[in-house]
Amino acid sequence: MNWQTHEILNQFDELADYNLYTTDAALAQGVQRAGAGWFAPSLESYGAGIGSSESFRMAEEANRHLPELEAFDRRGRRIDQVKYHPSWHALMARFREAGLVSLAFADRRAGRWAAAAAGFYLHSQVEAGTMCPASMTQACIPLLQKEPALWSQLGEKLYACGYDARDVPAAQKGSLWIGMGMTEKQGGSDVRSNTTTATPVGAAGRGQAYRLRGHKWFLSAPMCDAHLVVARSPAGYSCFYVPRWCPDGTKNSVQIQRLKDKLGNRSNASSEVEFLDAWGVLMGEEGHGIRTIIEMATYTRLSCVIASAAIARQCLVQSLAYARQRRAFGRVLVEQPLMRAVLADLALESEAATALMLRLAQAFEGAQAPEQRAWMRIMTPAAKFWVCKRAIEVCGEAMEVFGGNGYVEDSRLARLYREAPVNSIWEGSGNVMCLDVLRALSREPASAHALLDELERHSGGEQHVRAELQALRRDMDLPPEELEALGRSFVQRLVVVAQACLLCASAPGAVAEGFVASRLGGRWGQVVGAIDPRQVALGALLERSFPDAAAGARA
Ligand SMILES: Cc1cc2nc3c(=O)[nH]c(=O)nc-3n(C[C@H](O)[C@H](O)[C@H](O)COP(=O)(O)OP(=O)(O)OC[C@H]3O[C@@H](n4cnc5c(N)ncnc54)[C@H](O)[C@@H]3O)c2cc1C
Repeated sequence: MNWQTHEILNQFDELADYNLYTTDAALAQGVQRAGAGWFAPSLESYGAGIGSSESFRMAEEANRHLPELEAFDRRGRRIDQVKYHPSWHALMARFREAGLVSLAFADRRAGRWAAAAAGFYLHSQVEAGTMCPASMTQACIPLLQKEPALWSQLGEKLYACGYDARDVPAAQKGSLWIGMGMTEKQGGSDVRSNTTTATPVGAAGRGQAYRLRGHKWFLSAPMCDAHLVVARSPAGYSCFYVPRWCPDGTKNSVQIQRLKDKLGNRSNASSEVEFLDAWGVLMGEEGHGIRTIIEMATYTRLSCVIASAAIARQCLVQSLAYARQRRAFGRVLVEQPLMRAVLADLALESEAATALMLRLAQAFEGAQAPEQRAWMRIMTPAAKFWVCKRAIEVCGEAMEVFGGNGYVEDSRLARLYREAPVNSIWEGSGNVMCLDVLRALSREPASAHALLDELERHSGGEQHVRAELQALRRDMDLPPEELEALGRSFVQRLVVVAQACLLCASAPGAVAEGFVASRLGGRWGQVVGAIDPRQVALGALLERSFPDAAAGARA
């Protein structure tokens, strides 16, 4: 072997074969606090399976062997099928079979939303593309529940835990996936710019059949059994259930033009489609479709927060595991003071994101109560803005912890880095989320004050937190134009102070104090790691984040 010029030293693979649940104290404690302890054994088992090297391998395969469009069969008949790698199907099946798609709705136990969020968070750390159809399917459930005729046909199959990938009419399937279609070429944020039309086949109205004509510029997971689609009907923008197959057994005339060549989220197909008088059923009142589809988007926005918190967590764990092994200048990286500051800052960001996503998920469970409604209405877009943005930053920094090894395409960090921005773009981009927060504040000022009151109660009287809460209250009284221009700054501060309060209420002192001192104490820099280590208990924080012994402990 004369090419062997050297021994390979100081090189370490990314971490695998560890239990993503039992090694995550913040998550496991949060699940208990949320009353979801009954689901902990399932999460423990899911955490072991999804953390296996086999799962990581499948995730890599599903993202390397990309979905392919087969628009026609061999004889030129349209089939509009997308073919996926077997690993995609295996990962979809794993999530479905754990009951995680419908858990938040199918189970009535307290804590179900936190339980579902925790499952979503575990899976997203390993493979995020599969979470797109999972999130959309979950989110369509409450909308379809309001349509008795459709629900009687679909409800059982939406709750079903078997995986059925066959491209056959819904009536023949054991379980279903459903996506959403809003975005058109001329605009996605402004759904009122949609030009796709819907014409009643016979009588107009809820539950009636319409023909849709037009396009969608982004339609993810096109192999879903149906999509909920916004189109303009005679009474205005309306929401339609558009299945892949018509009730008469013919394929619906939804043609896939091509698949997007995306930066990340590559295991999941996103398509451009044409509706050539496609068959659909009106959901909700005609002319109220935007309100209907926005309800669905509220759920998928929560998914974006969870997925981004998951990215931050996976970045942190991989960085810590690597830094504990890799040596430079005679010491392991984790012992280098400046690297410790970077890792501690990542740990604070990750734990704050995890606490926020669990609290937010709980709000979805009790949405009838005013304080929960305030959380859901105001903090969902706020958290979607901030946590998704932070995940992008965290990925870049985690990649750098790996040095050059992080930047090569087959690195797990590179995939996380390419994945992160999509959560900030889809389901309402950053500015749109900030504007949504401001809209909620102006429409429901009492809710906003109630939310700040609740945060204050959790602050434990911490002076920086109280000062920030007071400043936010003052800003809420600014003229709307002025507040709009301040939108990003206001929402960032709202989320950070909410995270501080959540951590003050329940996290160990090292975490809560470190977060408050770094984020609100005036010394937080523009890059990860620009903290004052004298204010942060670095060792305790890193040990809590991912115990040193956990890397060696098999799942
Ligand atoms: C991988 C991927 C998959 C997707 N899958 C789907 C799908 O399945 N179904 C679907 O319907 N859509 C899907 N989308 C589309 C996505 O939801 C839209 O891209 C997104 O909503 C933004 O719309 P747009 O691209 O038209 O940008 P625009 O609406 O043109 O917005 C451009 C920018 O302007 C900002 N902006 C807009 N309005 C304002 C304002 N008033 N003030 C300040 N700033 C503003 C936005 O925040 C954004 O940064 C997908 C997108 C991606 C990337």
